[in-house]
Amino acid sequence: MKYVRKKRLSADAYVDGILKGNRILLSKSITLIESSLPEDNDLAEEVLTTIIPFTGNSIRIGITGVPGVGKSTFIESFGKQVTSLNKKLAVLTIDPSSQRSKGAILGDKTRMETLSVDPLAYIRPSASGSALGGVAQKTRESMLLCEAAGFEVIFIETVGVGQSETSVYGMVDFFLLLMLAGAGDELQGIKKGIMEMADSIVITKADGENKKKTERAKIEYQNALHLFPLSKTGWYPKVLTCSAVHEKGIQEIWDLIIEHNQQLKEKGFFEIKRQEQNISWMHNIIKDTLSNRFFNNEKIQELIKEQEKMVATGQIPTIKAAKSLLSVYDSYRSSAD
Ligand code: GDP
Repeated sequence: MKYVRKKRLSADAYVDGILKGNRILLSKSITLIESSLPEDNDLAEEVLTTIIPFTGNSIRIGITGVPGVGKSTFIESFGKQVTSLNKKLAVLTIDPSSQRSKGAILGDKTRMETLSVDPLAYIRPSASGSALGGVAQKTRESMLLCEAAGFEVIFIETVGVGQSETSVYGMVDFFLLLMLAGAGDELQGIKKGIMEMADSIVITKADGENKKKTERAKIEYQNALHLFPLSKTGWYPKVLTCSAVHEKGIQEIWDLIIEHNQQLKEKGFFEIKRQEQNISWMHNIIKDTLSNRFFNNEKIQELIKEQEKMVATGQIPTIKAAKSLLSVYDSYRSSAD
């Protein structure tokens, strides 16, 4: 296949397009920030820094749940609710477990058939094959680009089986956990920690024969949530039920999110939460950068395999191996300074 070098634009051209709400340029700029090419990184950083003053004006909603819980059907129905209010909606998805490709992007669009042709909605899956930390980081940046492009509501969808939820929790205003009623183990492998993060649990598929079960599950989950310590914002997580297929209970979820938004703003917690998220984002960038520097260091790459073998066979205590690698790295760096 002939390799065609993609044309890179100037930072101003990207920024201008984003601020005008041009979707092609928005998509191109997301591709730019997702790029791992070093020559794209500076440009991406310049675009991001320039658009920062135009960000922060959306309601950021994290949506998670195990595969099969009904996420795409829900997002389709809930998304329509949002766009029916004449609000511009961006849907970003993180699924590190699947190797997404351009084909999967199309697959995603057909997953959300109506929403994908809705002029007020924009759907964008995460880049393929990147490490989780990287994907989450790029999703946060994509969210900022969408805000600068005028999107008023952002959904960030994750699969609900891995660590990505914690990262998403750290970038949204409202964290929504979708759950099935009575599917074997009541907790369906959803870790307690994820339940604890939820601002609301929504039991899906509350229709037909399943309706009674969902009502029972609602009470059980509400009781379970009472056992968790109250969040410092004073928000009491609520359990709701919905049927995305029959579009029932969807409006109530939106109303709850608005109530949460207003309550946090009135109490001053909205701003505090976002400030804290920005601080922990900075910490994460530092951690990621340091960790990349360490693991990409030639000397470390040379030594680490040997240390790994010694740790595995118990020839050296783990902590000692880690510390000796770190001290090699420190001395390498100080000699380079
Ligand atoms: P995802 O894997 O979490 O994205 O789940 P999907 O949205 O693909 O849904 C999984 C299955 O549940 C599909 O067969 C859907 O048709 C079904 N489903 C989703 N929402 C509802 C609902 O509200 N009611 C009923 N009865 N089925 C639903």
